[in-house]
Amino acid sequence: MTPPREEIPMRINRTRLMESMDALGRVGETPRGGLTRLALSDEDRLGRDLLVRWMREAGLTVTIDRMGNMFGVRAGREALPPVMMGSHADSVPTGGRYDGQLGVLCALEAIRSLDDHGIRTRHPVGMIVFTNEEGARFQPAMLGSAVLAGKIPLEDAYNARDKDGLRLGDELERIGYLGPEPCAARPYRAYLELHIEQGPQLEEEGLQVGVVEGIVAIAWSRLTLRGVQDHAGPTPMRIRHDALVAAADVIGGVRALARRIGGDIVTTVGRLDVVPNIPNAIPGAVSLSIDVRDPDDRQIDRALEGIDELVREAARREGVTYDLAHYWRVPRTPFHADVVGAVEDAARSVGCGYRRILSGAGHDAQYMAAVCPTGMVFVPSRAGRSHCEEEFTAPDDIEPGANALFLAALSLAGRAE
Ligand SMILES: [Zn+2]
Repeated sequence: MTPPREEIPMRINRTRLMESMDALGRVGETPRGGLTRLALSDEDRLGRDLLVRWMREAGLTVTIDRMGNMFGVRAGREALPPVMMGSHADSVPTGGRYDGQLGVLCALEAIRSLDDHGIRTRHPVGMIVFTNEEGARFQPAMLGSAVLAGKIPLEDAYNARDKDGLRLGDELERIGYLGPEPCAARPYRAYLELHIEQGPQLEEEGLQVGVVEGIVAIAWSRLTLRGVQDHAGPTPMRIRHDALVAAADVIGGVRALARRIGGDIVTTVGRLDVVPNIPNAIPGAVSLSIDVRDPDDRQIDRALEGIDELVREAARREGVTYDLAHYWRVPRTPFHADVVGAVEDAARSVGCGYRRILSGAGHDAQYMAAVCPTGMVFVPSRAGRSHCEEEFTAPDDIEPGANALFLAALSLAGRAE
């Protein structure tokens, strides 16, 4: 006898989800169990091919826009704006297999689960796979969602180049994912993104789900220092203009700035390019990146002023010239109260441990918050590690998050009886 529908627990299929994680995780897998699937690489193409096949097999209507963002939509009973779930499928080099991919596959799993339970929703329910979220190959990060939200012009995104000079637009075309649909905001009921926390808070507190209230403000700067390249032997110290010495001052200064401002601010110099980068020449030019984050936009303003000053001083001391560009900024993004509430209610009914949390990392949800009511579900990261091969979230921690995503999407889409 079939039990009445109410008695079937409304849950996702954990086995199927983990099988999908394994299958997609093999595309671009590294020998140590991590993932290298850079945006618009051959591996990205293979991963996309698999996702498109799965979306079609799940009966979704699949479309691809001019930025290569991929959409799969399951019809609702009414022609209303859809509830979308999603994340990205690109990775950093030797990254992990949970960042991005998990959110995409939990979205797919939630949709497959609607079918398992024979559920019709009022609003359509769909998924989005965003292009170039990581910013590892093409800068800035989150380009697919940025163009969709109208924050960056499509042509500017196309003209982004990787370190080998390859153009994003050309690479998108090369892998066959420059789609016909306009890359533009559409009316959505809501956007929900499940993602690994990438920090230690949930694990430290023994919780399974983070109900994300918003994302911290982020600013990226790029600095080029130009000194005088010369021989490391015959050139006396008193006449040197060493770009790397000035850069070292800047790096120390950026760290000290965070200590001085205090609170939750974090500052990072993550990239350094030294010319000519050989043992026996005084470095003639150095380029470096500066990443600043804080929950409060005013603290970012303070930090950028501080950076202007410390760069000026470091350059003056060493007698070098410089270009400093604060070229990318995303303000603090609060998520929509209704969506945050839906995620919290869902976490409660899943019966897991949860708390409200702020994201220190940028996500596509940050741009989607400008398009429609948006929220996120975090799951724990072991030891807080991410963007590395050790990145790991236990299936026991994935399942409650995936169920929270599923139930939150269902409640926002409304059940059609
Ligand atoms: Zn991510």
